Amino acid sequence: ASNEPDTLDQPPLKKLVGDVGVVVQHYNSRPDVGVVQRLESPIIGLKNFNNWVKSVLISRFAHPVLAKSPSSNGYSGPGRGGRGGSGKVLDMGCGKGGDMTKWAKAHVRELFGVDIAAVSVDQARSRWESMRGPRFEAHFAALDCYTEPLSKAFSPAKLAQPFDVVSMQFCMHYAFETVQKARCMLENVSRHLRTGGVFIGTIPNADILLEHLDELPPDKDDLSFGNSVYKIRFENRDSKPMFGHKYWFFLQDAVENVPEYVVRWENFVQMAADYKLYPVYKEEFHQVFEEHQEHPEFKPLLVRMKVVDTNGESAMDEDQWEAANIYIAFAFEKR
Ligand code: SAM
Repeated sequence: ASNEPDTLDQPPLKKLVGDVGVVVQHYNSRPDVGVVQRLESPIIGLKNFNNWVKSVLISRFAHPVLAKSPSSNGYSGPGRGGRGGSGKVLDMGCGKGGDMTKWAKAHVRELFGVDIAAVSVDQARSRWESMRGPRFEAHFAALDCYTEPLSKAFSPAKLAQPFDVVSMQFCMHYAFETVQKARCMLENVSRHLRTGGVFIGTIPNADILLEHLDELPPDKDDLSFGNSVYKIRFENRDSKPMFGHKYWFFLQDAVENVPEYVVRWENFVQMAADYKLYPVYKEEFHQVFEEHQEHPEFKPLLVRMKVVDTNGESAMDEDQWEAANIYIAFAFEKR
């Protein structure tokens, strides 16, 4: 290991005002509840299902790319006391590091976790430090990835070798406030991703959101819909801009009325092509379930991750199942 510090000395994050301030404040203030307390969440079935979908994405799209990582050739380093893995991953919007076990299972060698919420980043680092079992190298930094380049947080030496995978889970939509932010985000995804590398993520399903909005009675002033688990309230139904089409999102025991923005798929795909990123997969979460529920690897994982019990009973009630399909999963390849 070099003596180089993990991250560059960082200037204090710009004063976070406006929507981004609300987002940061929200995520920073959510407690990092332990595994035991997490089990008591009223939407534990939905949380487990979301984690299962992320595991499927990582196993199906990231793991093969990691296994074939050119950076794995001749690698004999010990990781941090564990088995050396194969590739290098950037988890943008990593939050409290909830996906680290999934990355360990995918045999990652080096993980970079970045998030605008500095408290969450500290929690992710602590979680990594206390992880048992096979270890991987990890570097963490607080950074607004939608207004600042990644090179502001990590030294050129750390970024010299490109990433094999970039992952953005449940966070990319915050970039769609403006075209500038969306482009900055895509630049950060693509600049340090190798050709043949993959970009995976999960975002709200614009088709479903806009369908619900269109179905609201014309005279309804309160532009909201949802069920006992989630609520979405739009600000405007007359104009549907490509960027900055804002709604407030509430998810029981997870997200308390945070401003988010619609990500129109075609717009996203078109822009991503400017960064040499091309879609290879896009499915609603219900479809991800349909496709993989009988899969020899992912079916037993449904039970292990407590999405269904050993009798095949779902841990989600109907409202949770409906809320699950607010999201889509995607994978892009860099060509
Ligand atoms: N990816 C994690 C997961 O799947 O558990 C966390 C998801 S959480 C719903 C959304 C994350 O996006 C928050 O941690 C938030 O701080 C982060 N985020 C929002 N805006 C960001 C920005 N401009 N730069 C980096 N991270 C951002």
